[in-house]
Amino acid sequence: MDAITRRILEIKRERGDSLLILGHHYQRHGIVDVADHVGDSFGLAKAAAEAPRARDIVFCGVRFMAESAAILCREDQKVFHPEPEAGCPMADMAPMDSVESAWATITARLDYRGRKMVPVTYMNSHAPLKGFTGAQGGLVCTSSNAGKALRWAFERGDLVLFFPDQHLGRNTAKALGIREDEMRVWYPSKPDGGLDTLEGVKMLLWNGHCPVHMKFSARDARFVKKNFPGSLVVVHPECEQELVDLADGVGSTEYIVKYVAALPEGTRVFVGTEANLVDRLKRENPKLKVEFLTRSLCPTMYMVDREKLLRTLENLEGEEPVPMPTEVREPARLALERMLSLAPNPSLQQTLAN
Ligand code: SF4
Repeated sequence: MDAITRRILEIKRERGDSLLILGHHYQRHGIVDVADHVGDSFGLAKAAAEAPRARDIVFCGVRFMAESAAILCREDQKVFHPEPEAGCPMADMAPMDSVESAWATITARLDYRGRKMVPVTYMNSHAPLKGFTGAQGGLVCTSSNAGKALRWAFERGDLVLFFPDQHLGRNTAKALGIREDEMRVWYPSKPDGGLDTLEGVKMLLWNGHCPVHMKFSARDARFVKKNFPGSLVVVHPECEQELVDLADGVGSTEYIVKYVAALPEGTRVFVGTEANLVDRLKRENPKLKVEFLTRSLCPTMYMVDREKLLRTLENLEGEEPVPMPTEVREPARLALERMLSLAPNPSLQQTLAN
């Protein structure tokens, strides 16, 4: 153990339960090794909301995750983000001016009359979009509970506007039995989102994607199946539908961790998700042959390192907590609490059976 890790552990001992370090699965190994909780965004959002004694929460992940913890935490808690510049390109694809303009355009259309639209927003989004979602009667979801979130929304309306990841929206809706001709992509840069009609449309998918998961393709899966007979492919639902359809397992980060851990000894499995997690799956499952479907690292997750974590921990009194204005926090909290009341789905496929 080196001096940085030793010092981090020393501060943790000194602070006891008043300090909570959360680390996303995509974080570097050195961060994961010192975190109190490691999980996906759903698990970490819950951990932040349910930490009774923690006063200072240090979130090692990207910006939207730290913001979600700041929305859910109590008045006496503060959330710190060791690298405020670590954002998420997918969250940036749904800026509020485009979102508000799309909402106004859709609700003003003649073929919208008599319908009710419910927004469903993926956790991987900025706080103001979560606030907008809560204020418009919608909810947040993660890849662990997107199926349940869509069911919730369709109990309250007949049209869902899904932000910002079109692939998670499409894959989840398909698993629920919504046909492809009932889904349309909304292109914010085109007049009327690029749509002539809303007739028969149940799902409007915002034109956003995760650049990290777009690196995996159906071609990769076909190559693997042809050249490594008997091997398995497991992917995240942020991947495109053609790949998801070919995969043996599809689910959230937490699902992928459990899926791999449960495989019989000697199995060769190709994993289509962020490289740091796949690296860790290799380390934690030495009796399996865990392979990268393609190596794809999230550069913004990678911006958080142990040095930045230590600097934050040593300056907690002087450090600026993640700001969260009340007018954003209250409606965003509503949208997040609606999500937290849903139990996660272990996989998209299982959603069909629920
Ligand atoms: S993996 Fe994708 S969705 Fe997650 S933080 Fe990186 S860019 Fe954003």
